[in-house]
Amino acid sequence: MLKDEYGRVVTNLRIAVTNRCNLQCFYCHKEGEKNPGEEISADRIIEIARAFRELGVRKLKITGGEPLLRKDILDIIQNLPDFEEISMTTNGILLEKYADELKECGLSRVNVSLDTLNAEKYRWITKVGDVEKVIRGIEKSCEVGLTPVKVNMLVMKGVNENEVEELLSFTNSFNDNHIRAILQVIELVPFPGFEKYFFDISAIEEEYAKISTQRRIRAMHRRIQYFTPKGVIEFVKPMDNTAFCMHCNRMRVTSDGKLKPCLLRDYAVTIDGKHGEELKKAIIETVRKREPYFKG
Ligand code: SAM
Repeated sequence: MLKDEYGRVVTNLRIAVTNRCNLQCFYCHKEGEKNPGEEISADRIIEIARAFRELGVRKLKITGGEPLLRKDILDIIQNLPDFEEISMTTNGILLEKYADELKECGLSRVNVSLDTLNAEKYRWITKVGDVEKVIRGIEKSCEVGLTPVKVNMLVMKGVNENEVEELLSFTNSFNDNHIRAILQVIELVPFPGFEKYFFDISAIEEEYAKISTQRRIRAMHRRIQYFTPKGVIEFVKPMDNTAFCMHCNRMRVTSDGKLKPCLLRDYAVTIDGKHGEELKKAIIETVRKREPYFKG
C-alpha cells in the first residue's frame, strides 16, 4: 500500500501522456507542468502504470495536454494493466471519432471538458474550438458506454457562472433509469494573471445541496455528489480547502515521465532509468514525502 506520513493512501494515478493540445484555453494550468522535456513513450507509460498497479493503486486517469492527440493512444489504453477503472479526461474535440475504439480497448469512461454550450463563448475560451464537435463526442461516449461521462465545467467569473443550470440540463438529457452523465463543476485554480476570473462556487453548491434527494461523499478530496431532480452534480473546490488536500489520494506522472505529488507544487521527481524494484522504491519514497498543500 502506498501511504504518506499524513496517513493518506494513494489509490489513484493520473498520467499526462502528452503536453500537446489542440485547444488554447486561456486559463489552463497545464497539469502543473512548466517546461516539460521529451514526451514519455508508450512503453514507459505502461511500465510506470504497472508499477503503480502492483503497489496497490486502483484507478488510473489518462490526461494531457490532449490525450487523443497521441497517435498511439489506443495501443496505450489496450496495453495498460488491469485497474478497477481506467478513465480519460479529454476536451472532446476528437472524441466522436475515437469513442468506439476507446471502449473496445478497455477504457471505462471519460471526463469531457465543456465550460459552455454557447458556440461563440466556447470559441473565445478555447481560441480555436468547435463546441458542436464536443457535444457529438459526449453523445457518442454515452452511446458506446464510456459512462458515466463527467462533463467538466470550469466556472469563471463574468464568463459562465450563470450557465450551471443549462449545462446540468444538457448533462441530464442523457440520463433515464441509468446515470450516463454527471456534471462536475470545477473552481478555477487562479494562476497569476487570472485572479479576476476566480469565482467561489460555494453558493452554487448550496443551491443544489438544498434540492438534493441523495448524496454520495467520495473518498477523493471528500467531494460530494448531489442527486437532484435536475440531474447529478458534483463540485471540485481545491483552493484553500484543507479537507480537499487531506483527502487527496492521487499521484501524478508528468508528460515527460516524472513523478508529481501535487498539482500546486513546483516539484517533480525524475525517475528516468529506473525500472523494476528500483522504480517501485522511487515511487514509495516519493509518496512517503507527499505533503498537503493547504494544511489545517
Ligand atoms: N485536454 C484534456 C481536457 O480538456 O480535459 C486534459 C487536460 S485539462 C488540463 C484537464 C482539466 O483541467 C480540464 O477539465 C480543465 O478544465 C482543468 N483545468 C485546466 N486549467 C484549470 C485551472 N486553472 N483551474 C482548474 N481547473 C483547470
